[in-house]
Amino acid sequence: MKYIDIHSHLNTKDFDTDREAVLARMQETETGTIIIGTDLESSKRAVELADKAGVPIWACIGVHPVDDPAKIFDVDAFEALARHPKVVAIGECGLDYFRIEKTEEEVARQEKLFLDQIDFAIAHDLPLMIHQRDAIPEVLLILEASVREYGPKLRGDIHFFSGDLAQAERFWNMGFTTSFTGVITFARNYDEVIKNAPLEMLMSETDAPWIAPVPYRGKRNEPSYVTEVVKKIAEIRGENVEIVEKAMISNAKRMFRIA
Ligand SMILES: [Zn+2]
Repeated sequence: MKYIDIHSHLNTKDFDTDREAVLARMQETETGTIIIGTDLESSKRAVELADKAGVPIWACIGVHPVDDPAKIFDVDAFEALARHPKVVAIGECGLDYFRIEKTEEEVARQEKLFLDQIDFAIAHDLPLMIHQRDAIPEVLLILEASVREYGPKLRGDIHFFSGDLAQAERFWNMGFTTSFTGVITFARNYDEVIKNAPLEMLMSETDAPWIAPVPYRGKRNEPSYVTEVVKKIAEIRGENVEIVEKAMISNAKRMFRIA
């Protein structure tokens, strides 16, 4: 494995017509991925795909904060899934106040859903895959309180990091990594964080099928395009691309305990 995309949605129907070809391109480019669940069904599908794939694939299981507000975190159902050896993280979970009316009820609903999954991750000694949108201060407060309670056993990655350097440093201080998508190939507002990050706190991802990097912009995204993200991280930092490639792999191995 030369590249790792720690956050893809290969389990969505966007890949139903040509998933085999996508997997073949991953094999060619020596790319592995972690497939992310957003509810129980897509989590099951992630585990199924991780189980039979001939390429390095793992699964992350959990419930997204706003994908479907009717969804709860059914501990018993997820318990059965979490025992699968290919399950390496819990999520994507977190808080999302973008395009949502931030009522007291809604905030309480999202916080409970998030805390349920933090408890579950601790119980299973698995890292969290955190989703946040317009909610970094709130996510920081919850994680900092949880770290005070659980210590370094609580760990994870802030997917699609979009905060500033001071916020990033608070996550890094807790041992949380920050990951970046193809958006960094065409938007410059992530450069400062990427440039100033300790290399061991960065991760590469695609969030495929969404947000394809240059030169695939506007097309459906896929895990093998993570090569463009890794190249860009190296370019922004002014570092040798092979060093960054190796770091992305070893960072993912450390966080997700994958072989
Ligand atoms: Zn996602």
